[in-house]
Amino acid sequence: MSKIRVTIWNEFIHEQQQGPTADVIRSHYPKGIHEALKEELAADDLEITAVSLDMPEQGLPQDLLEKTDVLFWWGHVGHAKVEDALVDRIQKRVLEGMGLVVLHSGHYSKIFRRMLGTHCSLRWREVGEKERVWVVDKFHPIAQGLPDSFVVPHTEMYGEPFGIPDEAHVVFISWYEGGNVFRSGVTFQRGQGKIFYFSPGHETFPIYRQPEVVKVLGNAARWAAQTRPNAQTVCWDKDPPPEKVYSENPLDKIDTSDLHKKA
Ligand code: ZN
Repeated sequence: MSKIRVTIWNEFIHEQQQGPTADVIRSHYPKGIHEALKEELAADDLEITAVSLDMPEQGLPQDLLEKTDVLFWWGHVGHAKVEDALVDRIQKRVLEGMGLVVLHSGHYSKIFRRMLGTHCSLRWREVGEKERVWVVDKFHPIAQGLPDSFVVPHTEMYGEPFGIPDEAHVVFISWYEGGNVFRSGVTFQRGQGKIFYFSPGHETFPIYRQPEVVKVLGNAARWAAQTRPNAQTVCWDKDPPPEKVYSENPLDKIDTSDLHKKA
C-alpha cells in the first residue's frame, strides 16, 4: 500500500520570537510545532513533510501541494501574511480531494474561513485551566483507540458560540474548568475533500506531546486521506435531456444562447 503523504504547515512565528513566552514555547517545541508534529506522528504508513511560512513560496509550492494527500495547518498571528493566491490553490486542492486538518488558532486562518464560508469566531481565555475532551461520536474513525474522555491538564479555553456552519459533524466536545463548553473536534466535506478541525494545541503548553492528542491527529490524517476513488471535479456543459421534452418552448423563435456566453 502506498504511504499517505502528509504535509504539516506551521506559520513558525511564536517559536522564533524573543522573551520568556517564546522560551516556554521553545522548551516544548525546540524546532517548531511543525517539526514536533512530524516527530510525534511518525509511522510506517505516513510520509510526512514539515514546512513553514518563511520558506520559499510560503512553504507550499504547487508541486508539493499536488503531492499532498492531507495538509495540516497551524497558524495564529500570521494569518494575514498568507497570500490569497496560495489560499486559492489550497482551496482547489481540497475540492479535488486533498484532506485538510486545521489546528487550534487555525480557526481564524484564511483557508479555514474560505472553506467554511462563515466567520469562525469563538470565545477565548488564557489562564492555564484544565480541559476535558469528550468523545461524542464513539465510532468515528478519528475517535478510534481513545477513552470516552481525556484531560488536557493546561489549555487555552476556546468556547461557544463557535461560528461554523450548522452542518458541522461533532466528533469531540470539550468542557473547561472555568465552565465553558466547545465543539473541539468537527468534520466537514467540501467537494471531494474532507476537513477536520481540532482545537487543543495552544502553543505555551506541550499539548502536541500528549498521547491522546497525537492519537487524534494520526487518526485524522488517515481519515482525511480517504477520498472517493476516481473522484474528480466535474463541470457539465449543455445537457441533452434523457427523456423527450413535449412542452412547447415559448421562446422557440428567439436565440437565447447569448445568456450563456461569458460577459
Ligand atoms: Zn492559542
